[in-house]
Amino acid sequence: MAEDADVIVVGSGLAGLVAATEIADAGRRVIVVEQEGEQSLGGQAFWSLGGLFLVDTPEQRRLGIKDSYELALQDWMGSAGFDRDEDLWPKRWAEAYVAFAAGEKRGWLRAMGHRIFPVVGWAERGGYDAMSHGNSVPRFHVSWGTGPGVVEPFERRARDAQASGLLTFRFRHRVDALTVTNGTADGITGSILEPDDIERGKSSSRKIIGDFSLRAQAVIVASGGIGGNHDLVRQNWPKRLGEAPKHMISGVPEHVDGRMIGITEAAGARLINRDRMWHYVEGIRNWNPIWPRHGIRILPGPSSMWFDATGARLPAPLFPGSDTLGQLQYIMGTGYDYSWFVLTQSIIKKEFALSGSEQNPDLTGKSWRMTIKRATNKGAPGPVEAFKNHGADFVVRDNLADLVAGMNALSGDNLLKLDHLKGQIEARDREISNPYVKDTQVMNIHNARRYIGDRLIRSAKPHCILDPAHGPLIAVKLNIVTRKTLGGFETDLDSRVFGMNGQIIQGLYAAGEAAGFGGGGVHGYRSLEGTFLGGCLFSGRNAGRAAAKAVG
Ligand SMILES: Cc1cc2nc3c(=O)[nH]c(=O)nc-3n(C[C@H](O)[C@H](O)[C@H](O)COP(=O)(O)OP(=O)(O)OC[C@H]3O[C@@H](n4cnc5c(N)ncnc54)[C@H](O)[C@@H]3O)c2cc1C
Repeated sequence: MAEDADVIVVGSGLAGLVAATEIADAGRRVIVVEQEGEQSLGGQAFWSLGGLFLVDTPEQRRLGIKDSYELALQDWMGSAGFDRDEDLWPKRWAEAYVAFAAGEKRGWLRAMGHRIFPVVGWAERGGYDAMSHGNSVPRFHVSWGTGPGVVEPFERRARDAQASGLLTFRFRHRVDALTVTNGTADGITGSILEPDDIERGKSSSRKIIGDFSLRAQAVIVASGGIGGNHDLVRQNWPKRLGEAPKHMISGVPEHVDGRMIGITEAAGARLINRDRMWHYVEGIRNWNPIWPRHGIRILPGPSSMWFDATGARLPAPLFPGSDTLGQLQYIMGTGYDYSWFVLTQSIIKKEFALSGSEQNPDLTGKSWRMTIKRATNKGAPGPVEAFKNHGADFVVRDNLADLVAGMNALSGDNLLKLDHLKGQIEARDREISNPYVKDTQVMNIHNARRYIGDRLIRSAKPHCILDPAHGPLIAVKLNIVTRKTLGGFETDLDSRVFGMNGQIIQGLYAAGEAAGFGGGGVHGYRSLEGTFLGGCLFSGRNAGRAAAKAVG
């Protein structure tokens, strides 16, 4: 039977776009099949903050940060905690990926016109020892233009390849099965969905108006993870994180449905580490939602006080920005699936950032004039103020008694006692006037302010939470927001997929979130952040290059 292309790529997210452009650049014919409409090109990456894990960069050096491959690898391995037989390929991917992040990643992107915001962020700071979880130094490089700024070079390359006839998009084509003939993946079959010009990110129609089948010498699965499908998240929820939350919000659009994972598995691919996932605990319900149950993650600075549903302060080192899964595990251990930040206007103004391209119009719009206001503005950034005013999870009051009453009314659980919270906040406030103290969170604030990037735009001057001069007081009810899938299809360094028998399935490749960002779980148990887009770039590139070579 005649082939429709040399290679088929399933998914037009970042991983799919990177793979497809590499294939076209090698002079091979590629079809990109995507269930959504053309307006959704770029998948999740479009919505992302565009944060990239990079190591030993000029941006870091300019800020006085000393980083190295060895330090980054130490941090990666400490966070990953690889401890399973099936971690063989994930570990190999981790070594290769950290080398990419410390090597050609920045230059490769730069040559395509990608640029970086000069203040490097410090995500996942850990708080344990040097060999445990966390970034020893700031490494979160936000793309100028955020997520769309990462997608743009690959979309441009894809459009060029489309114009030259090497790349074809098939939008509104949903893959329902992979065809494997004599052990070799050689095509796909699926449904054609009715045209739908719904806005990007919103749920599109699933009405079927036809079917299709396509054949090629190789198929690359780049269909994303499971974060939009709460049933699948709950089904795969690991016991080590406690019970699966009853209530969750979604940090990803509905198309992150995990359906293609099951389809690829049914074709014989080996899915590993399906119980490893990356969900955030600082989720707030979007007052202006785009997709169903739309949740936004707060990227917190170091100063907000964090209380569980019963009003107990989270224990050290589970302070804002330290250890996402440690916090998740602690919170689920309380028997409630929410927690609280308590902070001041001075803190929200300087320390609250919201993840997502649409929540950062200054960076997304590449406006220096607006971005500079992050350091100089009197109020919080516009999108943060909008949440404060309209967000269902925000309580803003002039005194603590009213705040606690408002928190109890919001949760409906009536678990919080004024004296309990007051005692803990006052104790913390007594520690604030010395530059060297006992309270570990206050020590962390001083530590953060020794880094110029945090001092400039990410940490408020230390002050008493109960000082009315820094008010009003703000409480934020934090929900669990689903996001990333850390497990995936087991692949070798060419992104070739292993079958259940441990042998490579000829012609089948996987990239991006579907491949656990490489190998079936390059992150192990935990991420250092900014590693997901980068994982799409690296695994998509490897898949595209290897497939192009194999079909030659
Ligand atoms: C708000 C937000 C902020 C983020 N911020 C960051 C950040 O700062 N740094 C970072 O590293 N990561 C970040 N991420 C994560 C990162 O964006 C994603 O993990 C990554 O973009 C996933 O890319 P992907 O190509 O693997 O999958 P996706 O983007 O999910 O693309 C997969 C595509 O496949 C299509 N598809 C699925 N099944 C089928 C099928 N059966 N048939 C046809 N098509 C199908 C889907 O419709 C989709 O378009 C963020 C994510 C979000 C949502």
